[in-house]
Amino acid sequence: MKLLTPGPVTTRPEVKAAMTQDIAPWDNEFRPIYQAVRDRLLRIAGGTPETHVALALQGCGHFAMEAAIRTFVPVGRKILIPLVGSYADRMAHLAKDAGRIPVPLPVDQERPVSPAAIAQALAEDQSIGHVGLVYSETGSGVVHDPAAIGAAVRAAGRRLLVDAVSAFGALPLNVASQPELDAVMFTSNKCLEAMPGLGFTVARISSLQAAAGNAGSWSFDFADIYQHTLRPDSGGSFRFTPPAQVLSAVHTALDLFDAEGGQPARLARYRQNADVLYEGMRALGLDPCLARDVQGPIIVNIAAPDDPAWDLQRFVDLLKQSGWLISNFYNTAQPSFRVGCIGAITPDDMRGFLKAVASVLTTMGIRNRRACRAVA
Ligand SMILES: *Cc1c(COP(=O)(O)O)cnc(C)c1O
Repeated sequence: MKLLTPGPVTTRPEVKAAMTQDIAPWDNEFRPIYQAVRDRLLRIAGGTPETHVALALQGCGHFAMEAAIRTFVPVGRKILIPLVGSYADRMAHLAKDAGRIPVPLPVDQERPVSPAAIAQALAEDQSIGHVGLVYSETGSGVVHDPAAIGAAVRAAGRRLLVDAVSAFGALPLNVASQPELDAVMFTSNKCLEAMPGLGFTVARISSLQAAAGNAGSWSFDFADIYQHTLRPDSGGSFRFTPPAQVLSAVHTALDLFDAEGGQPARLARYRQNADVLYEGMRALGLDPCLARDVQGPIIVNIAAPDDPAWDLQRFVDLLKQSGWLISNFYNTAQPSFRVGCIGAITPDDMRGFLKAVASVLTTMGIRNRRACRAVA
């Protein structure tokens, strides 16, 4: 079975094999692995040990996002969130429930956010301290530009948080060149191609130092995690029991990442996957949701065919019988199905998948493959 989902993703056999040992996280043989993973993630983010640090938090991407919001945005303070899609909505939800004030900025979800719109919103409300940007919006498939948005945030003297959960490892990042950036967040799965189970941040040390006491949560506090790493007796261990096997798999996944050629090579493979998929779907008579020039390399949403025989769960079940698993839900306004282009997947896999789609559409008796425009 291959997963064509934008997380969890298909992993390589070496990564799965790295999970097969029992590990005690405080063991002296394990600590260097944890330290090495942190060093490698810091380098991938473009950070240096003088100014930035990579930290791990048990759990998923939402946990890392909640921890970042609690750590860097003081309680009762405002964070401007351009509503680029479902993951931006989730960031606003996390901020609100944590007692921070999300300031939603409605935007066209089928285009990259414009830095001018951010600059204007910040100029209109001087009490906004932070901007929260989703780098690759997994809901829509559009990639936004943290460097361009960051420049607007910097010019306005505010701070930036970036949800890079479906971007990190594939899309470029250079935290050193963005002094307005407090932190980027990501996970062990998605573009790093390891197992789910760990959230990460690469954060500015000065921001972490200034954030002590903000979180209002012991579990979700990157400032406390940072302080823990400095303790001589912590020995580079976790505050609480981590999924050590997952971390070991991340270490192996990073070996494979390096062997592939790092971020540029990974991006090139995902881009090719997305291109083969996008053009292949069009050749099958289906309509991708996004225009070609804004289609990102991480996930492609395809409009549900306007045919009475269309049934997403049946489509998913039949594809699964031929060895391909896609999501049985969608995050677009109009009905669609979503196909992830990330994980240990090649353009040849995409060609195989397209053949399976053609066959399943025939089995289901779908005649009209053009976009379904849902009734409101
Ligand atoms: C997957 C994802 C998340 C959430 O990650 P979970 O591990 O499912 O909690 C957050 N943001 C983006 C952009 C994502 O793609």
